[in-house]
Amino acid sequence: MNIMPGAMLGLLGGGQLGRMFTMAAQSMGYRVTVLDPADEGPSSGIAERHLRADYLDGDALRELGAACAGVTTEFENVPAESLRILAEHCVVSPAASSVTVAQNRILEKQFLAANGFGVVPYAVIQNSRNSHKLDEVLLQTHPERLPDLFPAILKVSRFGYDGKGQVRVTNATELDSAFTGMNREPCVLEQLLQLESEVSVVVARGFDDKVAAFPVAENQHRHGILDISIIPARVSPAIIENAREIAIQIAEKLDHRGVLCVEFFVLPDGAPSKLLVNEIAPRPHNSGHYTIDACVTSQFEQQVRILCGVPLGSTAMRGAAVMVNLLGDLWQQGEPRWEQVLRHPSVKLHLYGKLAARPGRKMGHYTVLAETTEAALQLALEIKQSLAC
Ligand code: ATP
Ligand code: MG
Repeated sequence: MNIMPGAMLGLLGGGQLGRMFTMAAQSMGYRVTVLDPADEGPSSGIAERHLRADYLDGDALRELGAACAGVTTEFENVPAESLRILAEHCVVSPAASSVTVAQNRILEKQFLAANGFGVVPYAVIQNSRNSHKLDEVLLQTHPERLPDLFPAILKVSRFGYDGKGQVRVTNATELDSAFTGMNREPCVLEQLLQLESEVSVVVARGFDDKVAAFPVAENQHRHGILDISIIPARVSPAIIENAREIAIQIAEKLDHRGVLCVEFFVLPDGAPSKLLVNEIAPRPHNSGHYTIDACVTSQFEQQVRILCGVPLGSTAMRGAAVMVNLLGDLWQQGEPRWEQVLRHPSVKLHLYGKLAARPGRKMGHYTVLAETTEAALQLALEIKQSLAC
C-alpha cells in the first residue's frame, strides 16, 4: 500500500539532513514527526511534531510507529534495535540490517571486502582480554601484514564523523598510544593512501527494486570535513561509469531500500585499482546537497518517495554545480555577510537554523549553478573568499 500525501511520516534524528528531508516531505504534502532527544534542532524545529525522547525509549517508539505510516532516519548511528521495533508497527526505510553494517566500520569493511568491492588495505584493531599491550591485541589484517600498513590512519569503528575519531600513526608505538586514546574501542587501521581525488555517488533504491544513481560528485575535504563538492566530478567517463555501477551494486548487495551514499578514493594512475570504496552512508549525504537545486529530484525527495513506496524521481541534472559547506568558524567575527552570497542570481543559500556556531559545525551550505564546472567553481571560490574577510 503506497503512502499518499497527507500522511504522517516519522524521522529519527533532529539534524540538518532531517530538516532537508522534512522540507521535501512537507512540500509534497506529507507531515513529519521527529523523534530526537535534544530540546531543539534543525529538523525538530520545523516538523509538525517533536517527540522528545531517547531513540531506545519503548513508549516513544510505539507512539511514533502508531502515529506514522512510515519511518526513516537521518543518521546512521540510530540504534538498529529502534528500527527493528518500529518495523513491527509501520514501514521502515532503511532497514536495521543495512544500518547495522554502515554504522560499524569493521562490519562495513568486511561486507565490502567479502563482496569483492575494493577497499583500502586495513587491519581490525581490537582489545582481547582487556589487554593493555598492543601485541596482545587481536589483529585481523586484510590483506596486508600490520607493518605494511604504515603510515596509516586509526579510525574508531563506531560513532566517528567529519574526521572525528581518526588519528594518523606511523609505527606500532604511535598506534598503541592512539588506540589507548580511543579508549581501546574497536578500531580499523587503514593504510594512508596518496589520493588523486575523492568522489561520491548517491543512489536511491526503492521497495520495487528500482534503482537510480545521481551524478558523481568530486569532493574536497579540509581537516577531515567536506569542504567543497564539484558536480559532475572532473574524472574520466570510465571512472564515472564505474563509480555509479559500484554504488548501485553495493545498494543491491546490501538489499538497501532508501538513499545510500558511497564515498570513493580515486588513486593515481599505476595503482592496482583506480577506485576504492572509502565508506558508505545509509542515508542522504552532504556531498548530495547539490541535488536540491541542480537535479530534477533531490536526494531528500528520493528518500520520501522510497519510504512512501512511490516511484523514484528523475536524477537528471542540467549544467554543473558546486556546493560549499558553511562551518561555524565563519561566524567568529559575527554573522557572515550574506549579501555576498545572495547577490548572485544562480547561487542558492541554505542555512540549517542552528543557534550555536561552533568551529567545525556544519551551519549551512550554498550551491552555485552554472553551465560548466569551471564557471561554477570560480564563482564558488570567489564567494568563499569574500565571506572569509
Ligand atoms: P564523514 O562521515 O564526514 O564522511 P568520516 O569521519 O567518516 O567522515 P572518512 O570518510 O573515513 O571520515 O575520512 C575523512 C577524510 O579523510 C576522507 O574523505 C579523506 O580525505 C581522508 N582519509 C580518510 N582515510 C584515508 C586514507 N586511508 N588515506 C588517505 N586519506 C584518507
Ligand atoms: Mg567520509
